[in-house]
Amino acid sequence: MFEFSYETYSKIIKEMKKINKIYNFKSADSSVKNGFLLRHDVDIDLDKAYKMCSIEKNIGITSTYFLLVTSDFYNVLSYENRKLVSNMFSDGFEIALHFDPMLYGDISLEQMQKQVEKECSIIEDIIGERVQTISLHNPSIHNRYLVFKTYKNAYAGEFFTPELYLSDSCKDFRGKDVFEFIKKGKSNLLQVLFHPIHFSENGENYIKSFSRLIEDKINNFDKYVRINKTYKNEIKENTLLSCFQKHIKENCGYEEKV
Ligand SMILES: [Zn+2]
Repeated sequence: MFEFSYETYSKIIKEMKKINKIYNFKSADSSVKNGFLLRHDVDIDLDKAYKMCSIEKNIGITSTYFLLVTSDFYNVLSYENRKLVSNMFSDGFEIALHFDPMLYGDISLEQMQKQVEKECSIIEDIIGERVQTISLHNPSIHNRYLVFKTYKNAYAGEFFTPELYLSDSCKDFRGKDVFEFIKKGKSNLLQVLFHPIHFSENGENYIKSFSRLIEDKINNFDKYVRINKTYKNEIKENTLLSCFQKHIKENCGYEEKV
C-alpha cells in the first residue's frame, strides 16, 4: 500500500529527477515535450505546503504551488503566511492561483476572468510578480473546466491529457502505480499533482493528520489570545486544548467510534 510519508515523497521526487527534468508551469515553455510538470494544490494548510517545498528544495528541484485566496482554512495575507509564500517564491518556486469558481455562482466567463485577475492581484502583492498559472479547485465535482485567457491553465490541453496525468486526489491514484507511472516521463510530458495535506512524517491517515492540524490551530489560537488579560485570567495554568477536550466530553455526547 502507498504510504503518504515524507520519506516516500522524497523517493518519488528523486526517482522522477533520475528519469527526466522536473518543471514548474512557469519554467515549462511550449518547446518542452517530456519530463514532469510538478503541481501542488494547497487546499487546507500552508505550513504543510512549506514543508513539502523544503523537501523539494533539498533535492534541488522546483514546482508550482497553487494557493487559494478564498479559503476558510488559511489566509495567504496573514503575517506568517506572507513570509512563507515570499520564502517559497525567492527559493525559485512558482506561486500560482488555485481558483474555486463555485464561490461566484453562475456568472459569465468574462466576469469569472475578472475574479481570477482580482484573486491573482492578492498573490502578486506578496510576490511582486505577475501570477502566470491557474489551477481549478474541484473541477471534476462540477465538471466545469474553465480556461482563462492570458494565463497558463493547468487543465488546458497543452498541459493536461488524462493518460499523462497523475493525481493523488482523495489519496487515490486511480489504480496507477506511482513508481511505474512516472517512467512515462522519459518520453512524455506528465503532469503530476500532489496535495501537501496528504503527506506527513509517518504517513498518517486523514483523521490523524486532520486532528493534528486542528490541535496546532487550537494551540496557536491559545497563544494568540493570551494577549487578552481577561482570557489569561480565565485560562490560568490550563491550556485551551485541555479545556476543549473537557468541553467535548461534557457537551458533545462524545463516543469513541474511530
Ligand atoms: Zn483544490
